[in-house]
Amino acid sequence: MSNPASAPVLRFAPSPTGLLHVGNARTALYNALYAQREGGTFILRYDDTDTARSTPEFAQAIAQDMAWLGLNPDRIEHQSARLPRYDAAVEKLKAAGRLYPAYESEEELETRRLSRRRRGLPPLYDRAALKLTGADLAKLEAEGRRPHWRFKLDGRIVAWEDMVRGHQTVDTATLSDPVLVREDGSYLYTLTSVVDDIEMSVTHVVRGEDHVTNTGVQIEIIEALGGTAPGFAHHNLLTLPSGEGLSKRLGHLSLKALREAGEEALAVASLAVLTGTSMAVESVESLDALAARIDFSKISRAPARFDPVELSALTAATLHHLPYATVAERLSALGVGGGEAFWLAVRGNLARLPDAALWWRVVEGPIEPVVAPEDADFLAAAADLLPEEWGEDVYPRWIALVKPASGRAGRTLFHPLRLALTGQESGPELKALLPLIGREKAAARLRGVRA
Ligand code: GLU
Repeated sequence: MSNPASAPVLRFAPSPTGLLHVGNARTALYNALYAQREGGTFILRYDDTDTARSTPEFAQAIAQDMAWLGLNPDRIEHQSARLPRYDAAVEKLKAAGRLYPAYESEEELETRRLSRRRRGLPPLYDRAALKLTGADLAKLEAEGRRPHWRFKLDGRIVAWEDMVRGHQTVDTATLSDPVLVREDGSYLYTLTSVVDDIEMSVTHVVRGEDHVTNTGVQIEIIEALGGTAPGFAHHNLLTLPSGEGLSKRLGHLSLKALREAGEEALAVASLAVLTGTSMAVESVESLDALAARIDFSKISRAPARFDPVELSALTAATLHHLPYATVAERLSALGVGGGEAFWLAVRGNLARLPDAALWWRVVEGPIEPVVAPEDADFLAAAADLLPEEWGEDVYPRWIALVKPASGRAGRTLFHPLRLALTGQESGPELKALLPLIGREKAAARLRGVRA
């Protein structure tokens, strides 16, 4: 870390080339929540220099997903608006002799890779471009060929202390010199990430373990640009239940799809953070509570399966504890009234938030009461016993009258009451529902009248 006295700076750098999936959410959450907990800065940085694949629609979808998860970046940047900085870095690397032009086409490179393989050599770039003479270069230029630019690796052991994986080394002698500038002049994120991480004083780079090799390369680039390497944490990747890797392109477990399926954002966040760690997967009451648990050293090394069935259970468990204030707005958008009393009455019975609307319909009516012929007299008598004085405690006062009068107890007492009052076999406690249903509607329903 460049300056231990300053607060941490973290970033999430998605490319807007598809919908975010839960694996991307894991990265976003680890960065955002760590920054939040440590009083640091969280940057959302759109990695959008690949103009052929990036779209404004996907960028907008990312913003929507971040907002849904409850992550509010302190700063938002678009790499496409920062090109002069990358131009300057490229000039610096060229001047230092670390960036060289290469003219091979994809087909030529493929042919060479195959021939190296046949000879039992690793399929590395052979640095043929470094041998081009001034005359060769002039000829290629005259033919109108445009180069791509490769970073000349030192070919050494690059080492760092990873916050998840411990001591890590990458031998850059085993890697091809990476292309940093494409033939059309566009930049690859291998360069742009580094330039921005240096300029934005990023202190912690937290990303998937698919970037480990890349980190070896990027540390060389950081040093070539005169920067200081940040701390790195490479977390394990999430997979489908089958073990197959998540793909943005294939739209696996996208946040949008999970949202549309009615999963709770907090449940998605909890599972995305806690799966694949030595911590228990459980519902948390807030993102702050989740942030408090973040501990890079507890992240496992093996890939972890993200189980949609577990997510549904966690969505329900999350709803069962959500305070009214955090759902009030969403409830009113669903047309659900009844305030906090209603929410506290029904939240324990919800599998998905929209289920609250079903219970609100039961409270509001009209519903068709269910009255079995053999219970009709009992229910009518119970209606006569409904207390005049209504209030939160009306149910126990009423039952205290109904029980001795009817001689019924247990299920024969309670089940017909529930069927008549709610029209449903099961549901939230009648003790909480009855005060909300009100005396008039309750009396009608007990008499078998739609109300
Ligand atoms: N856009 C890259 C990715 O999502 C950024 C990697 C990084 O965090 O540096 O894989």
